[in-house]
Amino acid sequence: MAGLDERIEPIYRDVVKRNPGEDEFHQAVREVMESLGIVVAKRPELAEHKIIERICEPERQIIFRVPWQDDNGDVHVNRGFRVQFNSALGPYKGGLRFHPSVYLGTIKFLGFEQIFKNALTGMPIGGAKGGSDFNPRGRSDDEVMRFCQSFMTELARHLGEYRDVPAGDIGVGQREIGYLFGAYKRITNQYESGVITGKGLSWGGSLVRKESTGFGAVYFVREMLKIRNEDLEGRTCVVSGSGNVAIYATEKLQQLGAKVVACSDSEGYVYDEHGIDLNLMKQIKEVERGRISEYVERRTNARYVDEGVIWDVPCEVAIPSATQNELNGNDARKLIKNGCIAVAEGANMPATPDAVRAFQEAGVSFGVGKAANAGGVATSALEMQQNASRDSWSFEYTEERLEHIMADIHRLCYETAAEYGFPGDYVRGANIAGFERVADAMLALGLV
Ligand code: NDP
Repeated sequence: MAGLDERIEPIYRDVVKRNPGEDEFHQAVREVMESLGIVVAKRPELAEHKIIERICEPERQIIFRVPWQDDNGDVHVNRGFRVQFNSALGPYKGGLRFHPSVYLGTIKFLGFEQIFKNALTGMPIGGAKGGSDFNPRGRSDDEVMRFCQSFMTELARHLGEYRDVPAGDIGVGQREIGYLFGAYKRITNQYESGVITGKGLSWGGSLVRKESTGFGAVYFVREMLKIRNEDLEGRTCVVSGSGNVAIYATEKLQQLGAKVVACSDSEGYVYDEHGIDLNLMKQIKEVERGRISEYVERRTNARYVDEGVIWDVPCEVAIPSATQNELNGNDARKLIKNGCIAVAEGANMPATPDAVRAFQEAGVSFGVGKAANAGGVATSALEMQQNASRDSWSFEYTEERLEHIMADIHRLCYETAAEYGFPGDYVRGANIAGFERVADAMLALGLV
């Protein structure tokens, strides 16, 4: 791991001590802190006002019981979380994750990342994240609805369009957002559209929200390639995952003339040398909620691999879009050997620190998640704008705004990295630019 500045090292050690066992949170904090030595050296007021210490401590952490009944009448008890991390720039904003692996450390790592990601979008939104260790897989619609209603019974009192605005993440798509919003509406007796994003189009949602994270990640790749005088046309690509982010990253890559040859879920990956059939992927994942292995039952030319990793597949562009730490140093070295020139994190923190270092040392353009996947939350903020003005924008207009936002984020990261003497280092560029925006607001707002 890269070293930490001597002024920052004790702060990091304190974070580890105060938050025991939360490995992903430590990893996310460390990655940001590794970029900040040069900033604190230049700006002594940050240390004086303990800005880094304050940013690492969530403003509020809520943990609650979520009891619910399955279709047989059996009672289950899950744990719900909402970590309201930082509201210097605006109301808390960040998704909800429903996955059995979720614990406080997951939510804190995601919430911490969200602070800087939201700052990079330039929109007035603070950072938060939430979720539960509930596993929606294999549950009926009724069971998911009862769980969401119980979850919202507690969460509602902490939300509000000017207070905290959740959205989806792993395991939380439009179905769950609908049940959550329905419960909130009933509890509060208000149609407060701007309290949650990722809504359906007929009840306050925004066109392009569904597509925005995946589309945005591909726009980010396009910008990184432009810097190298390259483009996406004819490129062979691999996109891990087969959820919301992966599906729409694949769609945009295909629209821009690239060929996506592999996708995956948590059980294995599919290789289709002719290019992934997107309609089939959507049918299996969005309509049938099935497994990606079913793809090869309907496409005989494709191959399903249930052992091994998707990064074995040679490609020029990789967009890891499943989950944290899904791409390690060995995977990165394999990708580099096979000719990969650009990687953008569609997921949050999918590349381990070892992998990031390998990519950077090899000169691979590496778009860190808080920049490359910020299109989702940016479009959520556009959804909030439409809700506030009782308006709904066209697909073309909304997508154009997303494209501009992603180009702006890319430029900000690129220029910030160059300004601080690390040209082409999007990790430092994103961390420093995001941090400075939040830090300046915190300084202005006083000791709160
Ligand atoms: P989905 O639930 O729609 O899809 C997740 C995909 O990742 C599925 O294919 C799932 O496979 C796979 N996956 C989940 N957990 C694991 C695991 N432990 N190991 C291997 N594969 C796994 O989620 P999203 O597409 O919304 O989110 C994907 C990533 O993108 C997450 O890191 C999320 O935080 C990030 N992100 C999402 C945004 C959004 O707008 N949705 C915005 C910004 C970032 P399986 O079905 O087998 O579990």
